Amino acid sequence: MVFTRDLRVIDNPALVAACQSENVSCLFVLDNRILASSTSSPKRVQFLHEALHDLRSSIEERQAHLEIREGEWLKEVCRYLEETLPQHVHIADDHSSYAKNRLNLLETWCESQSIALHRHPGVTVVEPGAVQPGSGGEYKVFTPYWRAWSLVPKRAVLPAPKTIGDSSSHEVVSHSAQLHLDPGITKGGESHGQERLSRWLRDGIARYGGARDFPAIDGTSSLSPYLHFGCISPLQVVILAQQFDDSEAFIRQVVWRDFYAQILDFHPEASQHDYRSRGDDWVYCHEEFQAWVNGTTGFPLVDAGMRQLKSDGLMHNRVRMVTASFLIKDLHQDWRRGARYFMSQLIDGDVASNYLNWQWVAGTGTDANPHRILNPATQAKRFDPTAVYIRKWVPELAELSPMDALDPTSATRALTGYPQAIVDHRERTQIFKQRRSRS
Ligand code: FAD
Repeated sequence: MVFTRDLRVIDNPALVAACQSENVSCLFVLDNRILASSTSSPKRVQFLHEALHDLRSSIEERQAHLEIREGEWLKEVCRYLEETLPQHVHIADDHSSYAKNRLNLLETWCESQSIALHRHPGVTVVEPGAVQPGSGGEYKVFTPYWRAWSLVPKRAVLPAPKTIGDSSSHEVVSHSAQLHLDPGITKGGESHGQERLSRWLRDGIARYGGARDFPAIDGTSSLSPYLHFGCISPLQVVILAQQFDDSEAFIRQVVWRDFYAQILDFHPEASQHDYRSRGDDWVYCHEEFQAWVNGTTGFPLVDAGMRQLKSDGLMHNRVRMVTASFLIKDLHQDWRRGARYFMSQLIDGDVASNYLNWQWVAGTGTDANPHRILNPATQAKRFDPTAVYIRKWVPELAELSPMDALDPTSATRALTGYPQAIVDHRERTQIFKQRRSRS
Protein backbone atom coordinates (compact mmCIF):
# COMPACT_ATOMS: atom_id res chain seq x y z
CA MET A 1 0.00 0.00 0.00
CA VAL A 2 1.61 3.24 -1.13
CA PHE A 3 0.05 6.27 0.61
CA THR A 4 0.24 9.60 -1.18
CA ARG A 5 -2.37 12.20 -0.23
CA ASP A 6 -4.83 9.76 1.25
CA LEU A 7 -3.38 9.81 4.75
CA ARG A 8 -6.21 8.03 6.54
CA VAL A 9 -7.53 4.61 7.48
CA ILE A 10 -11.27 5.47 7.37
CA ASP A 11 -12.78 5.31 3.87
CA ASN A 12 -9.54 4.60 2.08
CA PRO A 13 -10.39 2.39 -0.94
CA ALA A 14 -6.75 1.65 -1.76
CA LEU A 15 -6.00 0.50 1.79
CA VAL A 16 -9.15 -1.64 1.96
CA ALA A 17 -8.21 -3.30 -1.33
CA ALA A 18 -4.65 -3.90 -0.12
CA CYS A 19 -6.03 -5.50 3.06
CA GLN A 20 -7.64 -8.25 0.95
CA SER A 21 -4.13 -9.73 0.97
CA GLU A 22 -2.68 -11.44 4.02
CA ASN A 23 0.59 -9.56 4.00
CA VAL A 24 0.46 -5.80 3.59
CA SER A 25 3.40 -3.41 3.76
CA CYS A 26 2.64 0.31 4.01
CA LEU A 27 4.88 2.99 2.55
CA PHE A 28 4.96 6.77 2.30
CA VAL A 29 7.77 8.59 0.50
CA LEU A 30 8.45 12.26 1.24
CA ASP A 31 9.15 13.48 -2.28
CA ASN A 32 12.22 15.71 -2.08
CA ARG A 33 11.40 17.37 -5.39
CA ILE A 34 8.14 18.67 -3.92
CA LEU A 35 9.84 19.56 -0.64
CA ALA A 36 12.58 21.52 -2.42
CA SER A 37 10.29 23.36 -4.85
CA SER A 38 9.87 27.14 -4.53
CA THR A 39 6.15 26.68 -3.87
CA SER A 40 6.70 24.28 -0.97
CA SER A 41 5.31 25.76 2.25
CA PRO A 42 7.02 24.99 5.58
CA LYS A 43 3.64 25.09 7.32
CA ARG A 44 2.17 22.61 4.84
CA VAL A 45 5.17 20.32 5.32
CA GLN A 46 4.68 20.57 9.07
CA PHE A 47 1.03 19.58 8.66
CA LEU A 48 2.11 16.65 6.47
CA HIS A 49 4.55 15.46 9.13
CA GLU A 50 1.81 15.58 11.75
CA ALA A 51 -0.48 13.66 9.44
CA LEU A 52 2.16 10.98 8.89
CA HIS A 53 2.80 10.70 12.60
CA ASP A 54 -0.92 10.17 13.18
CA LEU A 55 -1.24 7.67 10.33
CA ARG A 56 1.71 5.70 11.62
CA SER A 57 0.01 5.39 15.04
CA SER A 58 -3.26 4.22 13.42
CA ILE A 59 -1.38 1.62 11.41
CA GLU A 60 0.57 0.44 14.45
CA GLU A 61 -2.72 0.05 16.35
CA ARG A 62 -3.60 -2.40 13.56
CA GLN A 63 -0.45 -4.44 14.16
CA ALA A 64 1.38 -3.11 11.13
CA HIS A 65 4.05 -0.56 10.29
CA LEU A 66 4.18 2.53 8.11
CA GLU A 67 7.56 2.89 6.46
CA ILE A 68 8.37 6.57 5.83
CA ARG A 69 11.24 7.36 3.52
CA GLU A 70 12.53 10.50 1.88
CA GLY A 71 14.17 11.00 -1.50
CA GLU A 72 13.40 10.83 -5.19
CA TRP A 73 9.86 9.46 -5.08
CA LEU A 74 9.99 6.91 -7.89
CA LYS A 75 13.43 5.64 -6.93
CA GLU A 76 12.46 5.20 -3.29
CA VAL A 77 9.16 3.46 -4.07
CA CYS A 78 10.85 1.08 -6.51
CA ARG A 79 13.64 0.36 -4.04
CA TYR A 80 11.07 -0.51 -1.37
CA LEU A 81 9.17 -2.75 -3.77
CA GLU A 82 12.40 -4.55 -4.63
CA GLU A 83 12.92 -5.16 -0.92
CA THR A 84 9.39 -6.34 -0.17
CA LEU A 85 8.63 -8.10 -3.50
CA PRO A 86 4.84 -7.65 -3.57
CA GLN A 87 2.60 -9.10 -6.28
CA HIS A 88 0.17 -6.17 -6.04
CA VAL A 89 0.61 -2.47 -5.28
CA HIS A 90 -2.36 -0.30 -4.28
CA ILE A 91 -2.30 3.47 -4.61
CA ALA A 92 -4.79 6.38 -4.91
CA ASP A 93 -5.24 7.99 -8.30
CA ASP A 94 -4.41 11.70 -8.54
CA HIS A 95 -4.90 14.51 -10.99
CA SER A 96 -2.09 17.06 -11.30
CA SER A 97 0.39 16.61 -14.13
CA TYR A 98 3.17 15.93 -11.62
CA ALA A 99 1.19 13.27 -9.77
CA LYS A 100 0.02 11.65 -13.01
CA ASN A 101 3.53 11.53 -14.37
CA ARG A 102 4.82 9.91 -11.16
CA LEU A 103 2.04 7.34 -11.29
CA ASN A 104 2.59 6.55 -14.95
CA LEU A 105 6.31 6.00 -14.41
CA LEU A 106 5.57 3.72 -11.47
CA GLU A 107 3.06 1.80 -13.57
CA THR A 108 5.63 1.25 -16.32
CA TRP A 109 8.22 0.06 -13.81
CA CYS A 110 5.71 -2.28 -12.11
CA GLU A 111 4.80 -3.76 -15.51
CA SER A 112 8.47 -4.45 -16.19
CA GLN A 113 8.65 -6.33 -12.86
CA SER A 114 5.35 -8.18 -13.37
CA ILE A 115 3.82 -6.38 -10.38
CA ALA A 116 0.15 -5.40 -10.72
CA LEU A 117 -0.42 -1.71 -9.90
CA HIS A 118 -3.99 -0.87 -8.85
CA ARG A 119 -5.14 2.76 -8.86
CA HIS A 120 -8.05 3.59 -6.59
CA PRO A 121 -10.49 6.49 -6.14
CA GLY A 122 -10.65 8.54 -2.94
CA VAL A 123 -9.05 11.92 -3.57
CA THR A 124 -12.40 13.36 -4.74
CA VAL A 125 -16.03 12.39 -4.06
CA VAL A 126 -16.77 11.72 -7.73
CA GLU A 127 -13.79 10.73 -9.87
CA PRO A 128 -12.83 13.13 -12.67
CA GLY A 129 -14.40 11.90 -15.89
CA ALA A 130 -17.13 9.91 -14.10
CA VAL A 131 -19.60 12.53 -15.31
CA GLN A 132 -19.07 14.34 -18.57
CA PRO A 133 -21.11 16.78 -20.62
CA GLY A 134 -22.71 15.50 -23.84
CA SER A 135 -19.82 16.95 -25.84
CA GLY A 136 -17.28 14.96 -23.78
CA GLY A 137 -14.27 16.31 -21.89
CA GLU A 138 -14.68 18.27 -18.68
CA TYR A 139 -17.55 20.38 -17.37
CA LYS A 140 -16.58 24.02 -17.89
CA VAL A 141 -19.46 25.53 -15.91
CA PHE A 142 -20.16 24.71 -12.29
CA THR A 143 -23.99 24.54 -12.16
CA PRO A 144 -24.43 21.80 -14.79
CA TYR A 145 -21.54 19.94 -13.16
CA TRP A 146 -23.25 20.23 -9.77
CA ARG A 147 -26.49 18.82 -11.23
CA ALA A 148 -24.73 15.89 -12.90
CA TRP A 149 -22.58 15.30 -9.80
CA SER A 150 -25.71 15.15 -7.61
CA LEU A 151 -27.14 12.32 -9.72
CA VAL A 152 -24.08 10.07 -9.43
CA PRO A 153 -24.79 7.18 -7.02
CA LYS A 154 -22.24 7.45 -4.23
CA ARG A 155 -20.46 4.37 -2.87
CA ALA A 156 -20.78 3.60 0.86
CA VAL A 157 -18.15 4.96 3.24
CA LEU A 158 -15.62 2.22 3.96
CA PRO A 159 -14.82 1.48 7.60
CA ALA A 160 -11.19 1.42 8.69
CA PRO A 161 -9.66 -2.08 8.42
CA LYS A 162 -9.60 -3.76 11.85
CA THR A 163 -6.15 -5.19 11.28
CA ILE A 164 -3.55 -4.85 8.58
CA GLY A 165 -1.69 -8.11 7.98
CA ASP A 166 1.93 -7.10 7.94
CA SER A 167 4.51 -9.83 8.02
CA SER A 168 7.26 -7.76 6.49
CA SER A 169 7.69 -4.96 8.99
CA HIS A 170 10.10 -6.95 11.09
CA GLU A 171 12.09 -8.11 8.10
CA VAL A 172 12.55 -4.76 6.41
CA VAL A 173 15.26 -2.49 7.77
CA SER A 174 13.53 0.79 8.57
CA HIS A 175 14.95 3.88 6.84
CA SER A 176 12.25 6.07 8.30
CA ALA A 177 12.82 9.78 7.86
CA GLN A 178 13.05 11.87 11.01
CA LEU A 179 9.84 13.85 11.59
CA HIS A 180 10.28 17.27 13.18
CA LEU A 181 7.10 18.51 14.82
CA ASP A 182 6.43 22.09 15.91
CA PRO A 183 3.38 22.22 18.20
CA GLY A 184 2.39 25.79 17.19
CA ILE A 185 0.65 25.07 13.86
CA THR A 186 -2.82 23.70 12.89
CA LYS A 187 -2.58 20.05 13.83
CA GLY A 188 -2.46 17.65 10.92
CA GLY A 189 -3.73 14.10 10.84
CA GLU A 190 -6.80 11.95 10.60
CA SER A 191 -7.59 12.06 14.34
CA HIS A 192 -7.72 15.86 14.36
CA GLY A 193 -9.58 15.87 11.03
CA GLN A 194 -12.26 13.51 12.35
CA GLU A 195 -12.64 15.57 15.53
CA ARG A 196 -12.98 18.76 13.54
CA LEU A 197 -15.51 17.18 11.19
CA SER A 198 -17.68 15.96 14.10
CA ARG A 199 -17.54 19.37 15.77
CA TRP A 200 -18.37 21.08 12.49
CA LEU A 201 -21.40 18.90 11.82
CA ARG A 202 -22.62 19.31 15.39
CA ASP A 203 -22.04 23.05 15.88
CA GLY A 204 -21.25 24.76 12.58
CA ILE A 205 -22.89 23.43 9.45
CA ALA A 206 -26.39 24.76 10.19
CA ARG A 207 -25.07 28.36 10.29
CA TYR A 208 -22.86 27.99 7.22
CA GLY A 209 -25.09 29.66 4.61
CA GLY A 210 -25.38 32.88 6.60
CA ALA A 211 -21.90 32.96 8.12
CA ARG A 212 -19.53 31.70 5.45
CA ASP A 213 -18.71 35.07 3.89
CA PHE A 214 -17.71 36.89 7.06
CA PRO A 215 -14.01 36.48 7.87
CA ALA A 216 -14.39 37.68 11.48
CA ILE A 217 -16.79 34.81 12.24
CA ASP A 218 -15.63 31.24 12.73
CA GLY A 219 -18.29 30.27 10.20
CA THR A 220 -16.57 27.77 7.88
CA SER A 221 -15.40 24.22 8.45
CA SER A 222 -11.59 24.73 8.30
CA LEU A 223 -11.42 21.26 6.79
CA SER A 224 -9.43 22.23 3.68
CA PRO A 225 -5.95 21.07 4.83
CA TYR A 226 -7.43 17.75 5.98
CA LEU A 227 -9.14 17.33 2.62
CA HIS A 228 -5.99 18.28 0.75
CA PHE A 229 -3.87 15.59 2.41
CA GLY A 230 -6.74 13.11 2.52
CA CYS A 231 -6.71 13.00 6.34
CA ILE A 232 -10.47 12.87 5.93
CA SER A 233 -12.34 11.47 2.98
CA PRO A 234 -14.34 13.98 0.93
CA LEU A 235 -16.97 11.28 0.36
CA GLN A 236 -17.37 10.77 4.11
CA VAL A 237 -17.72 14.55 4.57
CA VAL A 238 -20.51 14.72 1.98
CA ILE A 239 -22.37 11.60 3.14
CA LEU A 240 -22.37 12.78 6.77
CA ALA A 241 -23.26 16.37 5.83
CA GLN A 242 -26.25 15.16 3.79
CA GLN A 243 -27.84 13.93 7.01
CA PHE A 244 -28.14 17.52 8.27
CA ASP A 245 -30.79 20.07 7.28
CA ASP A 246 -29.51 23.13 5.46
CA SER A 247 -26.31 21.41 4.40
CA GLU A 248 -26.58 22.13 0.68
CA ALA A 249 -24.57 25.37 0.71
CA PHE A 250 -21.68 23.54 2.40
CA ILE A 251 -21.84 20.49 0.14
CA ARG A 252 -21.80 22.77 -2.91
CA GLN A 253 -18.44 24.14 -1.79
CA VAL A 254 -17.01 20.64 -1.42
CA VAL A 255 -18.25 19.99 -4.96
CA TRP A 256 -16.25 23.00 -6.22
CA ARG A 257 -13.23 20.98 -5.15
CA ASP A 258 -14.32 18.05 -7.36
CA PHE A 259 -15.19 20.49 -10.16
CA TYR A 260 -11.68 21.92 -10.24
CA ALA A 261 -10.12 18.45 -9.97
CA GLN A 262 -11.96 17.31 -13.10
CA ILE A 263 -10.81 20.42 -15.01
CA LEU A 264 -7.21 19.81 -13.98
CA ASP A 265 -7.53 16.14 -14.87
CA PHE A 266 -8.50 17.01 -18.44
CA HIS A 267 -6.19 20.05 -18.62
CA PRO A 268 -3.13 19.47 -16.42
CA GLU A 269 -1.59 22.54 -18.06
CA ALA A 270 -4.26 24.75 -16.41
CA SER A 271 -2.01 25.14 -13.38
CA GLN A 272 0.41 27.11 -15.56
CA HIS A 273 -1.50 28.44 -18.56
CA ASP A 274 -4.69 30.46 -19.05
CA TYR A 275 -7.62 28.09 -19.28
CA ARG A 276 -9.32 30.78 -21.39
CA SER A 277 -6.81 33.25 -22.76
CA ARG A 278 -7.64 36.97 -22.49
CA GLY A 279 -4.42 38.12 -24.15
CA ASP A 280 -3.31 39.89 -20.98
CA ASP A 281 -0.20 42.01 -20.87
CA TRP A 282 0.94 41.75 -17.24
CA VAL A 283 3.04 44.25 -15.32
CA TYR A 284 5.99 43.11 -13.17
CA CYS A 285 6.49 45.77 -10.51
CA HIS A 286 8.59 44.39 -7.68
CA GLU A 287 7.69 47.12 -5.14
CA GLU A 288 3.95 46.72 -5.61
CA PHE A 289 4.20 42.93 -5.45
CA GLN A 290 6.18 43.17 -2.20
CA ALA A 291 3.61 45.57 -0.72
CA TRP A 292 0.94 42.97 -1.53
CA VAL A 293 2.99 40.11 -0.06
CA ASN A 294 3.78 42.06 3.12
CA GLY A 295 0.29 43.43 3.63
CA THR A 296 1.33 47.07 3.25
CA THR A 297 -0.84 48.14 0.31
CA GLY A 298 -2.82 50.63 2.40
CA PHE A 299 -6.07 48.72 1.65
CA PRO A 300 -7.10 47.39 5.09
CA LEU A 301 -8.90 44.19 4.01
CA VAL A 302 -6.15 43.23 1.55
CA ASP A 303 -3.46 43.84 4.16
CA ALA A 304 -5.36 41.93 6.86
CA GLY A 305 -5.68 38.90 4.55
CA MET A 306 -2.05 38.91 3.46
CA ARG A 307 -0.87 39.18 7.05
CA GLN A 308 -3.16 36.32 8.11
CA LEU A 309 -1.72 34.21 5.28
CA LYS A 310 1.87 34.87 6.34
CA SER A 311 1.12 34.20 10.00
CA ASP A 312 -1.25 31.22 9.87
CA GLY A 313 -0.78 29.72 6.41
CA LEU A 314 -4.52 30.15 5.88
CA MET A 315 -6.90 32.85 4.68
CA HIS A 316 -10.67 33.13 4.62
CA ASN A 317 -12.20 32.40 1.19
CA ARG A 318 -13.82 35.83 0.78
CA VAL A 319 -10.50 37.49 1.55
CA ARG A 320 -8.62 35.15 -0.83
CA MET A 321 -10.91 36.48 -3.56
CA VAL A 322 -10.34 40.12 -2.56
CA THR A 323 -6.55 39.84 -2.26
CA ALA A 324 -6.26 37.91 -5.53
CA SER A 325 -8.50 40.40 -7.32
CA PHE A 326 -6.38 43.27 -5.97
CA LEU A 327 -3.13 41.78 -7.29
CA ILE A 328 -4.61 41.13 -10.71
CA LYS A 329 -7.01 43.99 -11.29
CA ASP A 330 -5.44 46.82 -9.28
CA LEU A 331 -1.77 45.92 -9.65
CA HIS A 332 -2.12 44.29 -13.10
CA GLN A 333 0.14 41.40 -12.09
CA ASP A 334 0.12 37.91 -13.53
CA TRP A 335 -2.23 35.54 -11.66
CA ARG A 336 0.51 32.86 -11.75
CA ARG A 337 2.78 35.03 -9.62
CA GLY A 338 0.12 35.44 -6.94
CA ALA A 339 -0.92 31.80 -7.11
CA ARG A 340 2.66 30.66 -6.61
CA TYR A 341 3.04 32.94 -3.61
CA PHE A 342 -0.19 31.53 -2.13
CA MET A 343 1.14 28.00 -2.68
CA SER A 344 4.35 28.89 -0.86
CA GLN A 345 2.32 29.87 2.24
CA LEU A 346 -0.96 27.91 2.35
CA ILE A 347 -1.36 24.85 4.57
CA ASP A 348 -4.22 23.78 2.31
CA GLY A 349 -2.26 24.69 -0.87
CA ASP A 350 -3.71 22.45 -3.55
CA VAL A 351 -2.80 22.50 -7.24
CA ALA A 352 -6.38 22.22 -8.55
CA SER A 353 -8.14 24.45 -6.02
CA ASN A 354 -5.46 27.12 -5.83
CA TYR A 355 -4.55 27.67 -9.47
CA LEU A 356 -8.08 27.31 -10.78
CA ASN A 357 -9.53 29.67 -8.17
CA TRP A 358 -6.85 32.16 -9.16
CA GLN A 359 -7.90 31.73 -12.77
CA TRP A 360 -11.53 32.23 -11.76
CA VAL A 361 -10.62 35.55 -10.11
CA ALA A 362 -8.42 36.52 -13.07
CA GLY A 363 -11.27 35.88 -15.49
CA THR A 364 -9.07 33.44 -17.42
CA GLY A 365 -10.77 30.40 -15.91
CA THR A 366 -14.30 29.11 -15.62
CA ASP A 367 -15.90 32.47 -14.79
CA ALA A 368 -17.31 33.82 -18.02
CA ASN A 369 -17.06 37.46 -16.87
CA PRO A 370 -13.61 38.90 -17.76
CA HIS A 371 -14.35 42.22 -16.04
CA ARG A 372 -15.39 41.09 -12.54
CA ILE A 373 -13.65 43.39 -10.07
CA LEU A 374 -13.87 43.30 -6.28
CA ASN A 375 -13.58 46.69 -4.64
CA PRO A 376 -11.59 46.10 -1.41
CA ALA A 377 -13.25 48.99 0.44
CA THR A 378 -16.81 47.94 -0.48
CA GLN A 379 -16.04 44.29 0.27
CA ALA A 380 -14.67 45.29 3.69
CA LYS A 381 -17.79 47.33 4.55
CA ARG A 382 -20.03 44.49 3.47
CA PHE A 383 -18.23 41.48 4.93
CA ASP A 384 -16.30 42.97 7.87
CA PRO A 385 -18.69 45.79 8.82
CA THR A 386 -17.32 46.30 12.33
CA ALA A 387 -13.71 45.79 11.18
CA VAL A 388 -13.15 42.99 13.69
CA TYR A 389 -11.10 41.00 11.17
CA ILE A 390 -9.15 44.03 9.96
CA ARG A 391 -8.33 45.21 13.48
CA LYS A 392 -7.19 41.73 14.46
CA TRP A 393 -4.66 41.43 11.64
CA VAL A 394 -3.57 45.05 11.17
CA PRO A 395 -2.35 46.20 14.59
CA GLU A 396 -1.82 49.80 13.36
CA LEU A 397 -5.63 50.00 13.06
CA ALA A 398 -6.49 47.98 16.18
CA GLU A 399 -7.35 50.91 18.42
CA LEU A 400 -9.49 52.77 15.87
CA SER A 401 -13.29 52.84 15.68
CA PRO A 402 -14.79 50.43 13.10
CA MET A 403 -15.47 53.31 10.70
CA ASP A 404 -11.93 54.66 10.94
CA ALA A 405 -10.38 51.20 10.60
CA LEU A 406 -12.42 50.50 7.47
CA ASP A 407 -11.50 53.81 5.87
CA PRO A 408 -8.56 55.48 7.64
CA THR A 409 -7.92 59.10 6.61
CA SER A 410 -4.52 60.28 5.48
CA ALA A 411 -3.93 61.94 8.83
CA THR A 412 -4.87 58.76 10.74
CA ARG A 413 -2.49 56.75 8.57
CA ALA A 414 0.32 59.20 9.28
CA LEU A 415 -0.43 59.02 13.00
CA THR A 416 -0.70 55.25 13.32
CA GLY A 417 2.05 54.31 10.86
CA TYR A 418 -0.42 52.55 8.55
CA PRO A 419 0.66 53.03 4.89
CA GLN A 420 -1.10 55.33 2.43
CA ALA A 421 -2.90 53.46 -0.38
CA ILE A 422 -0.30 52.47 -2.99
CA VAL A 423 -2.75 52.90 -5.90
CA ASP A 424 -6.01 54.61 -6.76
CA HIS A 425 -8.48 51.72 -7.04
CA ARG A 426 -10.87 53.44 -9.45
CA GLU A 427 -8.11 54.61 -11.78
CA ARG A 428 -6.24 51.28 -11.85
CA THR A 429 -9.32 49.16 -12.44
CA GLN A 430 -10.46 51.48 -15.26
CA ILE A 431 -7.09 50.91 -16.94
CA PHE A 432 -7.45 47.16 -16.41
CA LYS A 433 -10.86 47.15 -18.09
CA GLN A 434 -9.55 49.17 -21.03
CA ARG A 435 -6.63 46.77 -21.48
CA ARG A 436 -8.98 43.76 -21.39
CA SER A 437 -11.38 45.36 -23.87
CA ARG A 438 -8.53 45.94 -26.30
CA SER A 439 -7.28 42.33 -26.12
P1 FAD B 1 -15.47 25.72 3.74
O1 FAD B 1 -16.13 26.99 3.35
O2 FAD B 1 -15.85 25.10 5.03
O3 FAD B 1 -15.70 24.72 2.53
C1 FAD B 1 -15.62 23.30 2.70
C2 FAD B 1 -14.62 22.72 1.74
O4 FAD B 1 -15.02 22.93 0.40
C3 FAD B 1 -13.24 23.35 1.84
O5 FAD B 1 -12.51 22.79 2.90
C4 FAD B 1 -12.66 23.06 0.47
O6 FAD B 1 -12.14 21.75 0.39
C5 FAD B 1 -13.88 23.14 -0.43
N1 FAD B 1 -13.98 24.49 -1.03
C6 FAD B 1 -14.59 25.57 -0.52
N2 FAD B 1 -14.52 26.60 -1.38
C7 FAD B 1 -13.86 26.15 -2.45
C8 FAD B 1 -13.46 26.73 -3.69
N3 FAD B 1 -13.75 28.00 -4.02
N4 FAD B 1 -12.77 25.97 -4.56
C9 FAD B 1 -12.46 24.67 -4.27
N5 FAD B 1 -12.81 24.08 -3.13
C10 FAD B 1 -13.50 24.80 -2.24
N6 FAD B 1 -8.85 25.84 -1.37
C11 FAD B 1 -7.99 24.86 -1.10
O7 FAD B 1 -8.38 23.83 -0.53
N7 FAD B 1 -6.67 24.96 -1.46
C12 FAD B 1 -6.17 26.07 -2.08
O8 FAD B 1 -4.98 26.11 -2.40
C13 FAD B 1 -7.07 27.14 -2.35
N8 FAD B 1 -6.63 28.29 -2.93
C14 FAD B 1 -7.52 29.29 -3.21
C15 FAD B 1 -7.06 30.46 -3.85
C16 FAD B 1 -7.95 31.50 -4.15
C17 FAD B 1 -7.47 32.73 -4.87
C18 FAD B 1 -9.31 31.37 -3.79
C19 FAD B 1 -10.29 32.46 -4.09
C20 FAD B 1 -9.77 30.24 -3.15
C21 FAD B 1 -8.90 29.18 -2.86
N9 FAD B 1 -9.33 28.00 -2.21
C22 FAD B 1 -8.44 26.98 -1.96
C23 FAD B 1 -10.77 27.77 -1.92
C24 FAD B 1 -11.23 28.22 -0.54
O9 FAD B 1 -10.78 29.51 -0.26
C25 FAD B 1 -10.78 27.29 0.59
O10 FAD B 1 -11.06 25.95 0.25
C26 FAD B 1 -11.49 27.62 1.88
O11 FAD B 1 -11.23 28.95 2.27
C27 FAD B 1 -11.05 26.67 2.97
O12 FAD B 1 -11.70 26.96 4.18
P2 FAD B 1 -12.75 25.94 4.78
O13 FAD B 1 -12.18 24.58 4.82
O14 FAD B 1 -13.20 26.54 6.08
O15 FAD B 1 -13.89 26.00 3.69
